[in-house]
Amino acid sequence: MLYQRSSALFDEAYKYIPGGVNSPVRAFKGVGGVPVFMKSAKGAYLTDADDRTYIDYINSWGPAILGHTHPDVLEAVQKQAEKGFSFGTPTELETEIAKLIVKNVPNIDQIRMVSSGTEACMSAVRLARGYTGRNKIIKFEGCYHGHSDSFLIKAGSGAATFGNPNSPGVTAGTAKDTLLARYNDFEQVKDIFRNNEGEIAAVIIEPVAGNMGCVLPENNFLQKLRTVCDEYGTLLIFDEVMTGFRLAFGGAQEVFNVKADLVTYGKVIGGGMPVGAFAGRNEIMDALAPKGAVYQAGTLSGNPLAMRAGLTTLELIKGNLNFFENISKTTETLDFEIGKILNEKGIQHRINRKGSMMSVFFHISSVSNFDEAANANHALFNNFFHQLLANGIYLPPSGYETWFISDAIKQNEIDRTLEVIRKFEYS
Ligand code: PLP
Repeated sequence: MLYQRSSALFDEAYKYIPGGVNSPVRAFKGVGGVPVFMKSAKGAYLTDADDRTYIDYINSWGPAILGHTHPDVLEAVQKQAEKGFSFGTPTELETEIAKLIVKNVPNIDQIRMVSSGTEACMSAVRLARGYTGRNKIIKFEGCYHGHSDSFLIKAGSGAATFGNPNSPGVTAGTAKDTLLARYNDFEQVKDIFRNNEGEIAAVIIEPVAGNMGCVLPENNFLQKLRTVCDEYGTLLIFDEVMTGFRLAFGGAQEVFNVKADLVTYGKVIGGGMPVGAFAGRNEIMDALAPKGAVYQAGTLSGNPLAMRAGLTTLELIKGNLNFFENISKTTETLDFEIGKILNEKGIQHRINRKGSMMSVFFHISSVSNFDEAANANHALFNNFFHQLLANGIYLPPSGYETWFISDAIKQNEIDRTLEVIRKFEYS
């Protein structure tokens, strides 16, 4: 029987951990069935508790862009661990990683490290509010910026998968300061600005959305947001937790040539360790404590093990001139070949892709916003997911998620993936 030990482990976990997991989407509630418990990961592969291996298209939800347990990162972390796990003091290492990032990412002068993408986005919004003296923010339906209160309003990712994008526990007082707009609907954004003049501190956006499946900005949407933010004195926050160091070293700012006022990071920046960060120009970042009055802190912020994993990962990416071209090419091949197979089977679909992010939506011809993502055939995605899983291909367990392609996925893995998809039985 498949997943035998995972089933037993899930039953046991269920008794002690809410829903058996420490982050909801891991529970497979969206796709049904029992979550697969993994015990190790190397390169392109995960190994589960039953000793089955899988080609991994989640890559820890993005961080493992080099593939899992890259030998150089492993060695660097091991050496760092011998020096101590956490000091609660500044370290030279923190300046080293900050310098590498600031020198190679456009439009940022300073960066503050935190321990998750949620913290990064939450802190960036506080800073934007403190800096502008305004309360409201605009966020887009289907975008996910972590689980902080202001963001759990029509949120994507697990919140969308489980049908509770507006979480109980978020007060009406908090919710009223989050104004919602449709992704790619610039006219609606303009209306919101007109109706809330002088009140909007920031617009926060995933410059390529990954939490309603992969959805791309269209018709110069990001450039238009820049212009309207300038017009109204509002800060533009790019949530690059997924796109940072993935679409390019300089993330979406570099790829789309649009300047954000604040940028948030997570995932790749920590090389698999718990790291997030937010960054911006001097004049804005200077408003943060201890220099400025906007408070933000963290016991484990800039943790040396996490910084070493992040720094080594970023150096490896930076040192490989063709890195982004290669992973984009792999993703393009997957997009093209999967599309061909689905066409041959007569399955209507839409594949959205940018760089090494992609999603397959079934029974819909275009997906530009959350409503369209929701209208895709998720039951068919779930069927697709389970057939692939049973054959050793590990996709994100929800049609509202993005596949993350790592540099460890090579021709062998592509061939094996396509072979399994060719056998997909569509009923
Ligand atoms: N922002 C985006 C775009 C994300 O995709 C995520 C997580 O998936 C977050 C923020 C929150 O990051 P974390 O899960 O590290 O708190």
